[in-house]
Amino acid sequence: KAAVMDGVNVDQEPSTDSIEKTMANSAFEKLQEDRKTLPMYPYRDDLLQAVNDHQVLVIVGETGSGKTTQIPQYLHEAGYTKRGKASPIALAASEEPQEGEYRRQNICLSQGHVSQEMNIWVLGTFLPIGCTQPRRVAAMSVAARVSQEMGVKLGHEVGYSIRFEDCTSEKTILKYMTDGMLLREFLGEPDLASYSVIMVDEAHERTLSTDILFGLDISRFRPDLKLLISSATLDAEKFSDYFDCAPIFKIPGRRFPVEIHYTKAPEADYLDAAVVTALQIHVTQPPGDGDILIFLTGQEEIETAEEIIKHRIKGLGTKIAELIICPIYANLPTELQAKIFEPTPEGARKVVLATNIAETSLTIDGIKYVIDPGFSKMKSYNPRTGMESLLVAPISKASANQRAGRSGRTGPGKCFRLYTAYNYMNDLEDNTVPEIQRTNLANVVLSLKSLGIHDLLNFDFMDPPPAEALLKALELLFALSALNKLGELTKVGRRMAEFPLDPMLSKMIVASDKYKCSDEIISIAAMLSVGNSIFYRPKDKQVHADNARMNFHVGNVGDHIALLKVRFLMITTLFWHIIFLVYSSWRETNFSTQWCYENYIQVRSMKRARDIRDQLEGLLERVEIELTSNDNDYEAIKKAITSGFFPHSAKLQKNGSYRTIKHPQTVNVHPSSGLAQVLPRWVVYHELVLTTKEYMRQVVHLFPLIFLFLISFSVTLAVMIHRDFNWGLSWQVTELKPDWLVEIAPHYYQLKDVEDSSSKKMPRGTGRAS
Ligand code: ADP
Ligand code: MG
Repeated sequence: KAAVMDGVNVDQEPSTDSIEKTMANSAFEKLQEDRKTLPMYPYRDDLLQAVNDHQVLVIVGETGSGKTTQIPQYLHEAGYTKRGKASPIALAASEEPQEGEYRRQNICLSQGHVSQEMNIWVLGTFLPIGCTQPRRVAAMSVAARVSQEMGVKLGHEVGYSIRFEDCTSEKTILKYMTDGMLLREFLGEPDLASYSVIMVDEAHERTLSTDILFGLDISRFRPDLKLLISSATLDAEKFSDYFDCAPIFKIPGRRFPVEIHYTKAPEADYLDAAVVTALQIHVTQPPGDGDILIFLTGQEEIETAEEIIKHRIKGLGTKIAELIICPIYANLPTELQAKIFEPTPEGARKVVLATNIAETSLTIDGIKYVIDPGFSKMKSYNPRTGMESLLVAPISKASANQRAGRSGRTGPGKCFRLYTAYNYMNDLEDNTVPEIQRTNLANVVLSLKSLGIHDLLNFDFMDPPPAEALLKALELLFALSALNKLGELTKVGRRMAEFPLDPMLSKMIVASDKYKCSDEIISIAAMLSVGNSIFYRPKDKQVHADNARMNFHVGNVGDHIALLKVRFLMITTLFWHIIFLVYSSWRETNFSTQWCYENYIQVRSMKRARDIRDQLEGLLERVEIELTSNDNDYEAIKKAITSGFFPHSAKLQKNGSYRTIKHPQTVNVHPSSGLAQVLPRWVVYHELVLTTKEYMRQVVHLFPLIFLFLISFSVTLAVMIHRDFNWGLSWQVTELKPDWLVEIAPHYYQLKDVEDSSSKKMPRGTGRAS
């Protein structure tokens, strides 16, 4: 083998112990055998023929048939990644590949186990295969699996790319990525020239990015680019029709019968009901007969369920079999993600607590029982108010059936639906509404505009978004000065489009140029992008953790209380000055891990924030913004933040609630946040979120109709106030000055909007911007 690779920088394989090698080899062989047992395998040649014959192909197959892990490998094995003129012999060591002729070169295999056939591309040139996933975790997990199957190191020949994390290299030929990442790549390279095949996987999920990629018709510029659209649901005709009657390749599923059980009456507390059901199964069924999968709505709920199960198991005594709890959700640390795939030890049972991620994105073997409470977290958007919320909502019939199917993969299964058969028949929608119809489109509109697509109303959407939502997006981008009156991209807009962030955050960064505080602002943006996982509050050390956290509070009594209650919100309330202080303190300790431990701060999150910050710093350079710090001139920082978030301003009312200025709406601070005495008069907020708890209690009775409307109008909202304006020692000097709104966004606010007369009942917005 070494001889074959002579002349191309060969990474020397570290000499491993021969026993280890033998073990690795047999594990590798076992994986190869497993590959052959997948439902996909008998159709390998037919599939390759179909791909050969057609440019666009729709592929349908049951979850677990091997679409995601196998198809890219088959294509690679069949030579799709091999491109260009170079033959192994032609590419001599000294020969410099010519510009454009060879995409990548000097590729070598760093690991053993790879057959001669696979080695051929090593010496040639190649174009990678891209496979999109709607979820980050799926992209990472699948890439990890495929790298094992190919016997290569993750990040080398097989890699993944998700926002702010690129685990690929020059060698990467199979690239799993989120659909959002492909969309961003498309912005930079509209012919996707660096790919030979694009597989848009999980198309049935109909995520925003997938839909936009479809609308952009990514294969149109390159007749040689193969486009595969794969879906787990059978109604693939819609995809086929949309792509000019592209042929459909069906992989017959292997699905065992699944018994479905409904509850007789709606459950008042589905979390509790789910736990009870799981424990009943565990106690009454012999261990080893199959694992349990419970679908929950998010991290918080999963953690609660984990605690309850642990607690109750203790109460059951020592006689019952071991129950291994495996959580899986988007923010689960990578090290722990692999746990769900580990085989269950003899005599034990696994209970997987998963979000929607386990519906079709990840296949977990060995599941016999599925418990389906019938809910998932869904984004919803009210174009009238421009308010986006993430809320717990009933799933669709299609989802319910996918979930049930998870139990019948390896043998007959059972699905326990924690709702009534009547609910299923009458209350659930047939299909989940595509994301494009229930989301804020500002980001997408900015991307499309930067691609030069102006006529958005006539863009070829598979399912068009509401016109109102498009207009709202245009309106917001205009307010942020990203678009001019004619709807054309401005210089500011062009700069904003470079950042993979929401437009308001991008605008905040672009504006920091003017206020000479880009250094501080990108720290804040990075911390905000990490989300709600900065502080860590171990059960047995809560007091210590809380004390540590208080160090980051300046002046205000209310802040720390609010932060402690953060876990009651679906999205964390993070106040910019706290996260800023956390980040800059950490930086001062030279990114010390010890410091994080001492302050109960998650090292992992901080490192991620640092990575993101580094990337944002790189992007600053690209848009020619100098990295400047003005040494804690908080007024400048606040002004930069206001430049991005001014559309989200609210004023305190006498009763302690806030009233948003444009599109007036009353929003309450979460009752448990303990902020009452210290609320600033004017704020800008990051986003409005609903509390899970309150919502859950109500939804049980309303199940499941009309809740969407209820939420928009009446359910208490928790305000995620960035508290931007209570920095410092005293209130008066640090509040948002309402006249800033007029100063920063004169086209959006007029003086009368922000007149601060307390005798007036409330300031009223004047309706639409411009
Ligand atoms: P599909 O995309 O058709 O749903 P996949 O290609 O994801 O199917 O899965 C095929 C097989 O690979 C399944 O048996 C699954 O259990 C296994 N598999 C997928 N990902 C992993 C992983 N990260 N670890 C272990 N096994 C995996
Ligand atoms: Mg898949």
